[in-house]
Amino acid sequence: MTPGIRPLIAGNWKMNGTAASLGELKAMSEGSFGQAEVLVCLPATLISRARDAIGDTALRIGGEDCHSAASGAHTGDISAEMLADAGATHVIVGHSERRTDHGESDADVAAKAEAAWRAGLIAVICIGETQAERQAGETLAVLSRQIAGSVPKQALAANTVIAYEPVWAIGTGLTPTIDDVADAHAHIRRELDLLLGAEAGKMRILYGGSVKPSNATELLNIEHVDGALVGGASLKAVDFLGIAAACPV
Ligand code: PEP
Repeated sequence: MTPGIRPLIAGNWKMNGTAASLGELKAMSEGSFGQAEVLVCLPATLISRARDAIGDTALRIGGEDCHSAASGAHTGDISAEMLADAGATHVIVGHSERRTDHGESDADVAAKAEAAWRAGLIAVICIGETQAERQAGETLAVLSRQIAGSVPKQALAANTVIAYEPVWAIGTGLTPTIDDVADAHAHIRRELDLLLGAEAGKMRILYGGSVKPSNATELLNIEHVDGALVGGASLKAVDFLGIAAACPV
């Protein structure tokens, strides 16, 4: 953790969830978050119904991606303004599954972050190296390149969260060593310092990749790990709340 930064535990439901899942969200919203701020990023089809289901609770709802334009001829896409209108407060941009499945570049991700801000949303900007890049010893260089390309220079701690997700750790059950996570997060903080100056010290840097209740305590106690982005383990209230409870006091 970073002194003075409130941890954020963010879920990513990916392409999962229907009306039958709303009970799980309601159970999450009624749980105890301890010190953490808790957010669940949902398929766009669920956002408005989720807001209705959780009522006036502290659980935040986000989107998983947005288009960079506010509206227009982009069949099948969703704008940041539409997510905000549906009740979202945050949106993930640049998730590795978007970068891979949809060929999104760093420049695309930066444009989506700016679109999020335009709509009043907080952008959760994802970065992370592939297995091949790690094996080639390029992890820190990849992170530097992605930060330079994906994080607009106007980013503020109030409107931007960085999520470090090693691609090879997502959905695999594998996690980097504690030392590797510490090195990556310290490097990200240094790069943000260079890019953003004073804002960098206040910006949350989340770790993502196979976080679960059983490994959350050790991951969340690493310096510069200010929360987690959680895929699989965010689908069940009991697991997700277990991760939130692991945040250091
Ligand atoms: C993710 O989807 O961002 C993620 C980290 O997934 P998982 O927790 O399942 O590895």
